[in-house]
Amino acid sequence: MQTDQKLKKEIIEIGYRMWLRGFIAANDGNISALTAGGKIITTPTGVSKGFMQPEMLLLVNREGLPVRKNNPYRISSEFKMHLEVYNQRKDVMAVVHAHPPYCTAFSVAGIALDHCVLPEAVVSLGAIPVAEYATPSTEEIPLSIRPHIQNSDVILLQNHGLLCVGKSLQDAYFKLETAEHSAKIMYLSMNLGNVQTLNEEQVDKLMQLRSGYGMSGKITSCKTGLGTEQVIRETIEEIKKPPAGGSDK
Ligand SMILES: [Zn+2]
Repeated sequence: MQTDQKLKKEIIEIGYRMWLRGFIAANDGNISALTAGGKIITTPTGVSKGFMQPEMLLLVNREGLPVRKNNPYRISSEFKMHLEVYNQRKDVMAVVHAHPPYCTAFSVAGIALDHCVLPEAVVSLGAIPVAEYATPSTEEIPLSIRPHIQNSDVILLQNHGLLCVGKSLQDAYFKLETAEHSAKIMYLSMNLGNVQTLNEEQVDKLMQLRSGYGMSGKITSCKTGLGTEQVIRETIEEIKKPPAGGSDK
């Protein structure tokens, strides 16, 4: 496991990449990692994640309280979501949350990215569900991801953004890049009017590769064998659904 200093360096680098790639605006987003000592290093609130310094990062205990008293920086209210992940998933070592535009657009539309379309996404992400909308800074945030976090490392947060978890900071961050890249391609191909979904046999081969590589994390099976019309009809039906209540999203 990495030292706290190395984890801080990596968090700062990932924050910079998230800002540079337009995955966050202003002071959005948050990143955290589990330390060798069982605590959590996390990003502060009210700071651009593109311009962080090591002293801005906070060491937090498993109750969500900063270890150092009188710290001038404060923990993000979205940190509750990170704590929920670490409490639910013992295999997770890092959490990355951002508002990447294409993924967030799908979350606003209420459309899950759950069709088997791109091989890399099928292997590393599986189906990406949409967690029900939660009011920022409230207990609704951890509750919204609770139904999904045991089955998926990547979750769209309705009308909000994306949550990615992994066995390391790089693993969680790469899932963010892959999800946003896939969402962009899905959006473009839907607009071209032709979405070719992989069939069951093609997906089975990819799943064999996944187990051959010994890939970690949790994925849910994506939908196979749908024709263009069915994919577009399903996504339109998703849009027409009422936004909250009675849904398992
Ligand atoms: Zn957010």
